[in-house]
Amino acid sequence: MALNKKCNLVDGDWVSGDGSYENSNPSDLSDPVGTYTHATPAQAEEAMSAAVRSLPSWSMVSPQLRCDILDRIGTLILQRTEELGRTLAREEGKTLPEAIGEAVRAGQIFKYFAGEALRNAGDYISSTRPGVDVEVTREPVGVCVLITPWNFPIAIPAWKMAPALAYGNTVILKPAELVPATAAALCEIAVEAGIPQGVVNMLVGKGKTVGSTLVGDERTNAVSFTGSTETGRWIAKRCGELGKKVQCEMGGKNPMVILEDADLGVAVDVSINGAFHSTGQRCTASSRLIVVDRLFDAFFSKFKERTESLVVGHALDPSTQIGPVVDQSQLEKDIGYLEIARGDGADVIGGQQLSLDTDGYYLRPAALVGTSPDARVNREEIFGPVASIIRVKDEDEALEVANATPFGLSAGVCTTSLARSRRFKRELQAGMVMVNLPTAGVDHHVPFGGTKASSIGPREQGSHARDFYTVVKTTYVA
Ligand code: NAD
Repeated sequence: MALNKKCNLVDGDWVSGDGSYENSNPSDLSDPVGTYTHATPAQAEEAMSAAVRSLPSWSMVSPQLRCDILDRIGTLILQRTEELGRTLAREEGKTLPEAIGEAVRAGQIFKYFAGEALRNAGDYISSTRPGVDVEVTREPVGVCVLITPWNFPIAIPAWKMAPALAYGNTVILKPAELVPATAAALCEIAVEAGIPQGVVNMLVGKGKTVGSTLVGDERTNAVSFTGSTETGRWIAKRCGELGKKVQCEMGGKNPMVILEDADLGVAVDVSINGAFHSTGQRCTASSRLIVVDRLFDAFFSKFKERTESLVVGHALDPSTQIGPVVDQSQLEKDIGYLEIARGDGADVIGGQQLSLDTDGYYLRPAALVGTSPDARVNREEIFGPVASIIRVKDEDEALEVANATPFGLSAGVCTTSLARSRRFKRELQAGMVMVNLPTAGVDHHVPFGGTKASSIGPREQGSHARDFYTVVKTTYVA
């Protein structure tokens, strides 16, 4: 699955676009993952025409055929998780077990939506008028543009593409520029599984050119976006102006609250996992660890010890626990936030840039201590292996601090009290709440999404995905 210049899938053909860009390995800059090209405007036009042309037949085929093809895609992914995982780890930098786990999840997503293709039921309702029946059915929304970020190079394209296809839509995938190889591998598998020509298209290129062209095209019916809040808000505004259906999953600044009755071992485990695994580059990462005063010292001493013992290294090295940061600009952003924290008087534990055997973007995980809840590092998404540990006096203050953020994606609490867990489940302002579990790490078959500045539009994943990828029709029959 080597990436080459013919990385754009247009109407069933793999074609070479403009320029020549090296896809580098953040663990080893001397190991290029491949060379890719950006789709040309003519190719974007062709991909759009193909998606429009293939829509009537794909939306009308037997759902059993859609089910079978999606199931085959899932099988092929699950047969190749090792190979897909290696490609993903090389281009994104998460550790090989994390990358293989992500590929497994993508396979499971396709299997789940294969079944959903057959469960697209409607309602049959008696009318208020005698002799009239009402049917409520679901139809495909149409041509879906799927715009994805770099941090989950196969899971996010999968969790958009699988429901889109299951419900009879055609798609154009625009993956993040940093991770075209994994996205191309997914589309290759879709073709091998028998997806008809033109139903799945993929265009590599910059968001501001290829991405915004697709969003602005009048033939696009729906845009599903995952990425930063800034880009998501722009896309939502543009789709609003153009009258398109839109769904945006965006940033997070997720709190993990540690209450005084927490099991200390569990609290440290979930905090280390939530804050630093996948190099902290998860929208659901626990970037704010909010610890009540009575447990603070005990928690901090164990957390510090564990943080300092984490093994940072090459993503493919079996001993590595934390892979590199994805690229130079994200590394500079992370280091910049450490400086901002120091400037605000914080103690920074870890956070050193590391020189290892291979030249990569290695950063030791960092814990920030002594910042105020409204400091910049506690309000803005950093998106790296950096977590603040915030001391609060009690449960009430913990809840207040946890909710004092513009974001609302995921939130967690560690407690052994049923009453307290119930209170936090109700009062945490987030789309997903975790009790004694990391804020990151979710099941593939249930809704995913947030509140406040983290999400716009219907939920992704699970049966709720149908709300976005279908439109409701109400038919009256006399
Ligand atoms: P980004 O917003 O820079 O880019 C995301 C995608 O949008 C890329 O494919 C990019 O090319 C495209 N894009 C950029 N500008 C565009 C434009 N004007 N028009 C159309 N497309 C455009 O985000 P990123 O740096 O790739 O990813 C990191 C961000 O993603 C973080 O903020 C993270 O929290 C977020 N994220 C959110 C979730 C979630 O489900 N909530 C999941 C993963 C990542």
